[in-house]
Amino acid sequence: MLVVACVKQVPDTTQVKIDPVAGTLIREGVPFIMNPFDAHALEESLRLKDKYGFRVAVISMGPPNTEVTLRKALALGADETILLSDRAFGGADTLATSLVLAEAIKKLGQKEEVAMIVCGRQTIDGDTAQVGPGIATRLGYAQLTLVDRIENVDLQARKIKVSRRLEGRHEIVEAPLPALLAVIREINRPRYPTVPMRLMAGDATVTLWDNKTMRLNQETIGLKGSATQVRKIFSPERARGEILGDGVNNPQEAANLLVDKLVEKGVICL
Ligand SMILES: Cc1cc2nc3c(=O)[nH]c(=O)nc-3n(C[C@H](O)[C@H](O)[C@H](O)COP(=O)(O)OP(=O)(O)OC[C@H]3O[C@@H](n4cnc5c(N)ncnc54)[C@H](O)[C@@H]3O)c2cc1C
Repeated sequence: MLVVACVKQVPDTTQVKIDPVAGTLIREGVPFIMNPFDAHALEESLRLKDKYGFRVAVISMGPPNTEVTLRKALALGADETILLSDRAFGGADTLATSLVLAEAIKKLGQKEEVAMIVCGRQTIDGDTAQVGPGIATRLGYAQLTLVDRIENVDLQARKIKVSRRLEGRHEIVEAPLPALLAVIREINRPRYPTVPMRLMAGDATVTLWDNKTMRLNQETIGLKGSATQVRKIFSPERARGEILGDGVNNPQEAANLLVDKLVEKGVICL
């Protein structure tokens, strides 16, 4: 049985700059990394393999250089990696992205039964957290988001029990398999690849599925298949702060100054 991990290659946002004219992210010369949440999704998939004996397939939709990220997944212990890459997939929003990923999982499922899909909570570039639920909806799978612990997997009864981290509390949820999990960072600490595994991954195969292989309707993928388009990306203007009561040591006096200022600005009225 298969566990499918979805990983996205993203620009290292600590280094991303925005093109003020085009209103797009400047990707040239920016290092790419595995989306941080997906490193935890991959780690959880490998732990399911260690504990229950699943095979782990890792899929990613992206440009050809995404192969680098998939080789990292092989070095960590993934059994199979699929790169979904084609110009026709480019410019996709979450609707079109979830379609290509769901169709790829269907295709994997024709060869081997898929028990679970593990995604990250969200990416650090698009940041929508929509793709995981989109894939689950398209495949008719149960979806479990904000997962911070897998309590149990019962392959006999075909059920999974997880803990979800909500605001200030946890929720224990049980769902039928197959299921999609969107995990948060707190679920685990990713392992490091060993040197032999890195060397093996350097020679291993990363399977490429383009649209000749996937045979998807051109109207449903990429820019054409996207309901939303990012028109412009820009940094919000920073409002100038004001230091109140410089040198005032008495907290009461400082509080009075703040209240006066808020009244003056019409934020509050007394
Ligand atoms: C700044 C910016 C803003 C955007 N805003 C929107 C928007 O508002 N609406 C919209 O529809 N699109 C938006 N997009 C496009 C969107 O980023 C892409 O559609 C993207 O492929 C998926 O969305 P996401 O990055 O938000 O993923 P999320 O939904 O945040 O990703 C959740 C999980 O899905 C999996 N996943 C996501 N993408 C891939 C992939 N390519 N390959 C494998 N697994 C994947 C990963 O496990 C990931 O952790 C935006 C892009 C950018 C750069």
